[in-house]
Amino acid sequence: MKSDSRKAARLRARLHALLLLGGALLSLLGASRSFAGEGVSTATLAITRTDLLKVLRPAVRQMLADIESTTGLRVRFEPIPAGTFVVAQYNFDPRTNTPRIEIGPGWQDVDVAHELTHMRLELVERFPVLAWRRGAAPTPQREAALGRVRSYVDDEVVHARLVRAGYKADGEVLKPPIFDDVYTNVSRYLEEGRDRRNDGMSHLDSIGYGGLCRSAFLAQAELILRNYGDVLPPNRVEQVKRFVRAFRKHRPAEAQRADKVLALFLKHDVQSVAGHRAILEGWARLEGLDRFSGITSYRRRNARYVLPWPRRVEVEVDKEGGAE
Ligand SMILES: [Zn+2]
Repeated sequence: MKSDSRKAARLRARLHALLLLGGALLSLLGASRSFAGEGVSTATLAITRTDLLKVLRPAVRQMLADIESTTGLRVRFEPIPAGTFVVAQYNFDPRTNTPRIEIGPGWQDVDVAHELTHMRLELVERFPVLAWRRGAAPTPQREAALGRVRSYVDDEVVHARLVRAGYKADGEVLKPPIFDDVYTNVSRYLEEGRDRRNDGMSHLDSIGYGGLCRSAFLAQAELILRNYGDVLPPNRVEQVKRFVRAFRKHRPAEAQRADKVLALFLKHDVQSVAGHRAILEGWARLEGLDRFSGITSYRRRNARYVLPWPRRVEVEVDKEGGAE
């Protein structure tokens, strides 16, 4: 189990490195992520846990206290490495049994709440985790794809929890750049008939799974309309609708693919452990990732949390190129 833990830690580390790499895309909706070029930290933030506790909203401070007492773990707060695309990120290192939240300049209370919610879902509520199978060789392409599927599905749960907890859907849970940059600029590029290289969604094509990236954009936009259409201001709803229209008209193949993902969200309730699992599994299968990855979840063993390997499947899991 020790090597499982190490592997899991390495996976998390790599996953997060790729999340950063793909910040522009992954962050589309993530509360803690900012869009390309915006909010990129150029300096590290010198903040201690004590400083942070002083300024956090009481509700977030309470959330931290609750999670720490339930898990018996103490969250380490650290500055996010300079030059990363995200404002905050969470990871758990099973080797040291340490949850870590990195935050950068410009962080808001909601960003800490967002990362704490990831921790609660994984460690306390035992939501499923999509992880590499034993023996699978993670290529950068597969890692990017796995990270994207995981972060999109997980954030559907995180966002809903935050909205329910009273954070503003417009501006806190969903950050302005997704509306003012992606849903505005990408819509315009698509309407202008630009090709894929210049449509504002091409950032990750070079490492593969570009189709997955694009279809994820549309799936998320449709889910925003469905879940937050009645709480967002009309101008925001119109920005999302414009993107959906432009995307469906100019990227029909990727739209078809997105509809398969959306069908999973319609069929299963992502807010439940079982539904979340079914969506993760279904989406991974759609992308051909199921040979390399599977579902597992954190277990508590005495005072430690471990992430067992996903259960074996009777297929060859290695020695092949990317799934695209
Ligand atoms: Zn997130």
